[in-house]
Parts: sequence; structure tokens; C-alpha cells
Amino acid sequence: MPAALPFARLRNPDGRSTYVVVEPDGWREAEGDPFTGLAPRGPLRPFDGVVWDVPVAARKIVCVGRNYRAHARELGHDVPEEPLLFLKPSTAIIGPGDPIQLLPISHRVDYEGELAIVIGRLTRRVDPEQAARSILGYTCANDVTLRDIQGRDEQWTRAKGFDGSCPLGPWIETDLDPTDVRVETRLNGEVRQAGQTTDMVYGVATLLEYITAFMTLLPGDVILTGTPEGVGKLSAGDVVEVEVDGVGTLSNPVVDE
Ligand code: ZN
Repeated sequence: MPAALPFARLRNPDGRSTYVVVEPDGWREAEGDPFTGLAPRGPLRPFDGVVWDVPVAARKIVCVGRNYRAHARELGHDVPEEPLLFLKPSTAIIGPGDPIQLLPISHRVDYEGELAIVIGRLTRRVDPEQAARSILGYTCANDVTLRDIQGRDEQWTRAKGFDGSCPLGPWIETDLDPTDVRVETRLNGEVRQAGQTTDMVYGVATLLEYITAFMTLLPGDVILTGTPEGVGKLSAGDVVEVEVDGVGTLSNPVVDE
């Protein structure tokens, strides 16, 4: 995959977004785009005052339900015999720091911290051994869910597809082995979910093989890999953080509509 360095999109004061390269102590402007090649240039600039945009313009988000045994159990379910998939629309995506807006139609809105895969090129019918070649990188995601509505609806379009139901970011880490990383969710600074990707029922390569057997993935598309146990309710005034080891921390405030 072309983008070898972690990258993000920075929201400029004039409203335009630009790709930048992220380093441990700051960021640099970059030429090109991460799908064909991103070349850093110019001085290292500090993170202070930076406003991050959605890190990638996904055209679809494919999500996996009940992919951690303990989480399936906490909601009273067994682990599915095949990956349980659903979609979120592109309008579900919000960026780091953007508010998660509670909706009057729901009285139980939950966080679900997850590892997200970002696809780097058009991919169909991929072998698991070749899956890594289709992956541009990884980021943090929050699969925000209207839990009460999820229980009532046969399909999860409302419960999982509403505006703001997919916070993503803060940036895309291009050099990560996803097989054994910690996925942690904090609510107002308190740890609520602490999962390890070794506990995923279906791993990254298996998921890519399963999804691309029937659906084409496009550059920038995102796959959410499921949430560990410890899901819980969000309230107005909360700050929810999802941290994936080796990637970074995605933080979003929660507000009433
Ligand atoms: Zn989820």
C-alpha cells in the first residue's frame, strides 16, 4: 500500500481539509493522497490547536456484530456461526472531537469501541493470505448504537445507521499488526471496555475474505471489527474515548440534539 506513514486529515481555518503525515511529536504537510502516495514536506508542526477532520472519506462502512464472545454473552446472545454483518451509511461518520448527538427517538444510546480497518484499493474475492495487501491501515471507531431501538427493529438501519453513529479517527496508522492489540473505551476518563483483538471470533483476514466474497470494497471503505464486552449508556455531557494500542485515541463529546 502506498501510504507508509500514519496520516490524518486536518481541517483548515478556511474549511478545506488536507491530508497530513502524523509523527509522534507533530505533523507535516504532505503532497499527494494516501491511496497513490503521500510525501511529507516542510517542518514538523505541533499538535496544539489542530482540528482533525474525518480521517478518510469512506463510501461505506461494513460492520461486524457479536465478534467478541464476552460481548455477545453480555447481550444474551451466542456467537454467530458466520460473521454477522450490517452497514452504516457514509453520513454516519463524524471526526475526532465532533459531538455525538443524542436523538429524541431513543432513551438508550450506547458506545461500542472498535478497531477499524481502512481499505486501500478496490478489492473483490480476496484470499485470506492476500488480505493484508488490500489494507491501507487502521483507526479507532465508535459503533454508537440506539440499543432500545436495536431491540425493537428486525433490521438495524435506525439503531446503527443514524447521523453521527460512526465516530472515526484520529488518524490512520499504516504500520500495525492487528492480531494482538488492546481496544479500550473510557467514559469520562473511566475505563469501561478493555478488550484484546486476540479475543475476536473472526480475525481481520477472515472478515475480508467473507465480505469480499459478495461485495466490492473501494479505497477508503471502512470495516468495524466488533466490540469487546462492557458496552454502556451515553448521556449528554459525557466524553467518550476509544483507544487502540499503536493507533491513538478517538475522543467525542456527547450532546443533546
Ligand atoms: Zn459494534
